[in-house]
Amino acid sequence: MTDRQIKKRKSRRIYVGDIPIGDGAPVAVQSMTNTDTRDVSSTVAQIKRLEDAGCEIVRMAIPDEVAADALQRIKGKVKAPLIADIHFDYRLAIAAIKAGADGLRINPGNIGDRGKLEKVINEAGTRNIPIRIGVNSGSLQKDILDKYGHPTPEAMAESALEHIRIFEEMGFTNIKISMKSSNVLNTIAAYEILSDKTDYPFHLGVTEAGTLISGTVKNALGIGMLLHEGIGDTMRVSLSRDPVEEVKAAYEILRALDLRHRGPEIISCPTCGRTEIDLFSIVEAVEKGLQGITASPKVAVMGCVVNGPGEAREADVGIAGGRGQGVLFKKGEVVGKFPEEELAAVLIREVKKIAG
Ligand code: SF4
Repeated sequence: MTDRQIKKRKSRRIYVGDIPIGDGAPVAVQSMTNTDTRDVSSTVAQIKRLEDAGCEIVRMAIPDEVAADALQRIKGKVKAPLIADIHFDYRLAIAAIKAGADGLRINPGNIGDRGKLEKVINEAGTRNIPIRIGVNSGSLQKDILDKYGHPTPEAMAESALEHIRIFEEMGFTNIKISMKSSNVLNTIAAYEILSDKTDYPFHLGVTEAGTLISGTVKNALGIGMLLHEGIGDTMRVSLSRDPVEEVKAAYEILRALDLRHRGPEIISCPTCGRTEIDLFSIVEAVEKGLQGITASPKVAVMGCVVNGPGEAREADVGIAGGRGQGVLFKKGEVVGKFPEEELAAVLIREVKKIAG
């Protein structure tokens, strides 16, 4: 914990299903299924895994009428609110709303003319569900691109403001905004520019960010720097990976900023020439063994007696390795010495005791 509190940007409150977004609500964690939405059983199974990992809102692609129909059946089998991701065809947006979607994500740049957008907005208004205006650097309106030459942060912010104005003219304000680019600095700048021009809640993300390491780093910087400025009300980490990893990464970003804490915090040393236990295997076993725990005790796995006992003592539970053995600490007290092969199991058992 730190004394430095992040000062949050003032934003309006909207709800996706029963999940509050904006106006001081905890930053909501989202992800997106990568199953074929029409395959109901696979999609439900993936959503349940996402829910177990702490995903609070699930988005899914609705590429055709069959997928819209599937959404209705999926909804009856899962708890998380579902957002229908729609491109190009406004009729799919209407079908998804009728199928029970809790929210829509549309790119107004490709949904069609004003008349079509109005039909979508009217249907969303009737059912009282929010719409995310998702501006993407790759699909900005032609006039804005002509004006700026490139999808600059200023161009993305102007595009968002233009869409906000259109929605407001149609009397629809149940919206949140995202402006995504695969460029971290442009993403940050776009949100910064827009942050004092509107108080609609912001959905944060760095799109097409990449694989586990590169994508996590880009998201952690892009989303993390914005959150640190107090900007952002909900987030989706985007990775070329199992979406459950996106949720885990999201909670690590939130934890690092002391915004939300879900699951044990594992502190482990990088190992060095002094390490005399197989620390990597132990920490992997500990991480696996603690999956599913929502309490957030600090758990230290340290290789030796140099920094080990210090960190292990600061943690709620920890071990510090020695030659083929390790010392177990709990709340600052030495509990005992255990052989190396028992360390992971002993640590997991102790964490489970305090995590309830
Ligand atoms: Fe090396 Fe010990 Fe530090 Fe781990 S805790 S990196 S083993 S000095």
